[in-house]
Amino acid sequence: MTKPSQLLEDMGFSIQTCMQCGTCTGGCPSGTYTSLNTRRIVQSARRDKDVLNDDDLWMCTTCYTCQERCPRGIQIVDAILGLRTEAVRNGMMLPSHRKVARFVISKGHAVPINDNSMTQRQQLGMDKLPANVHKFPEALEQVKKLLESTGFVELIAEEDSK
Ligand code: SF4
Ligand code: SF4
Repeated sequence: MTKPSQLLEDMGFSIQTCMQCGTCTGGCPSGTYTSLNTRRIVQSARRDKDVLNDDDLWMCTTCYTCQERCPRGIQIVDAILGLRTEAVRNGMMLPSHRKVARFVISKGHAVPINDNSMTQRQQLGMDKLPANVHKFPEALEQVKKLLESTGFVELIAEEDSK
């Protein structure tokens, strides 16, 4: 497996100029409530530690605050997204994300609508169902076809069988 630092270099993200100032961590809203320490993630990737297996990789909400504030102009969030992509390619995914992935494959939507949402929509004078696969269930086959063409269905099936 390619080392994280090389991986990010290949993607065009240079993290080697990080001076470990901690500005990213200090302004991270997610880090206030989770164990996410953005500075540590960057440092782990620089030092080729096993960052792909780090659950904190998934705690980032991609708000981009850190990237906007980094004094070295490091594309922190884009690097995190790149690391996540590589993690998934290697079968590393949080159980909760796999659950959402299964919903997308089976329902064509990450968050299937429930009775409460349908009632609220009607109270607001809207159609009971939004104009997606809920309203047009025949489009589900097309969604599945698209997901299959990307290899996503196969990837999730492989993970489920482990
Ligand atoms: S803000 Fe930028 S330079 Fe500072 S620790 Fe974070 S990534 Fe490194
Ligand atoms: S983009 Fe992610 S790592 Fe950066 S500040 Fe927001 S939640 Fe934290």
